[in-house]
Amino acid sequence: MSFSDLPFEVGPVYEGERIRGNQMYVELGGPKIEKHFELTRVKKDKEIEDGKVTIIGPNIKDMEEGGRYPIGILVEVAGPELEEDLEAVFERRIHEFCNFVNGIMHLNQRYTNWMRLSKSLIEKGFNDLTMLGTVLIRLYKAELPIIKKAQVTLITDPEKIGETYDFALEIYNKRDERARSINDEDVDMFYGCVLCQSFAPTHACCITPNRMSLCGSISWFDARAAARVDPKGPLFEVPMGKCLNELAGEFEGVNEMIKKRSLGDIERIYLYSGMEYPHTSCGCFEAIDFFIPETGAGHGIIDRNHDGVAINGLPFSAMANQTGGGKQMPGFNGISMQYIISPKYQKYDGIKSGLDSGIHTIVWMGKTVKDRVYEFLPEDLRDKIATEEEVADLSDLPAWLEKVGHPIIETEEYKAAVSGVEEEEWEEEGAMVPMGTIGMTIPGVGGAGGFKVILKNCKIHAESIIIKKIEPKRKKK
Ligand code: SF4
Ligand code: ZN
Repeated sequence: MSFSDLPFEVGPVYEGERIRGNQMYVELGGPKIEKHFELTRVKKDKEIEDGKVTIIGPNIKDMEEGGRYPIGILVEVAGPELEEDLEAVFERRIHEFCNFVNGIMHLNQRYTNWMRLSKSLIEKGFNDLTMLGTVLIRLYKAELPIIKKAQVTLITDPEKIGETYDFALEIYNKRDERARSINDEDVDMFYGCVLCQSFAPTHACCITPNRMSLCGSISWFDARAAARVDPKGPLFEVPMGKCLNELAGEFEGVNEMIKKRSLGDIERIYLYSGMEYPHTSCGCFEAIDFFIPETGAGHGIIDRNHDGVAINGLPFSAMANQTGGGKQMPGFNGISMQYIISPKYQKYDGIKSGLDSGIHTIVWMGKTVKDRVYEFLPEDLRDKIATEEEVADLSDLPAWLEKVGHPIIETEEYKAAVSGVEEEEWEEEGAMVPMGTIGMTIPGVGGAGGFKVILKNCKIHAESIIIKKIEPKRKKK
């Protein structure tokens, strides 16, 4: 496969390239555009004209520098071994293949897809979106040899995109509905995905029936189909092994997988917890589950479509920086929308706090998240979860939770947190309050040296923290 006929470079080396606002020629899709999507469909052989690229709407020459436009990417493929179950996994490769182009940055998936084309790409001669379609077709056939034929349609027309967009939403819903039909107990195999390691080298998704991939685009069924046709590919089988903790969702096989795939960085995962050994997050999560310390055990959820800040005063982008990168971040978890309505959703954290389930820890949701999952939330809980419409200021949250009788208010953690706020006020008045426990442990003599400081039950307020490596002074000769 060659791209020498195209005026720009294509290859995995360009994955991870960032295109900032001042480097961008145009933006396609993204949060400021109403309708955009990407979809892959498996078709019959005779329905595909191999290599054909169709552009519907303005092309590069019709776009204004600095402008934003809709983008619909429809990739249709055929091959004798292809099955519908493979569509979602093929679709996820759009992200990777677009990023192979030097000068294109692609983020997210499904109807949150977001692309930027750089000025230097346009200067090199990328003057026709057909070139992008051609790149996709060549990469699909080269990287996934079971695809024998492919055609691509790119839609940028704001009127005409609507119909295919609605069709794409129907397909996503159908996939999600099927994904909800089984549970972790019904299967004897989980799956893993390392497609995002070019962005987050220690991240690997563990995909189970109750934990859809955090990008929200690969269900257990999709992962199973992909691992079957390409067992050595980026999606692979994860034998569950012994269940070490049923409530937390800790499995020997999942621990082994993450240890191997994170190159020893991460050793254990609690699949059903956001607070202890949580699943890692790369960067393409649909939403973020964040701990709200002021409520003791309560959490909030915000998604990419949220305008402004969440209840903790942070916008999605700031929390995404905290959450992503392939690290385990207790209290900040990248999740898919489907996981929110899974019976296993952060179950360990909820039950540990004495609640009925994990979803009962949710005290606040961005309106866009709540609208999407509302009908699937427990009936007795749905209206007790605040959005920015009910509570925009964190200091008003406890009073609201108490007014609606959210179950969180019965937890010991909530009671302690709320009384903590009172203590702070006392403190300001000059009253004596007990200090938190400060414990220090010193690793064994002869170890790597240094201190491990554990601060229990402490609140730390600081303008800034500077951590400096102190180089040992050289001895004078
Ligand atoms: Fe794969 Fe997970 Fe990345 Fe989705 S988020 S592409 S499942 S590694
Ligand atoms: Zn990712």
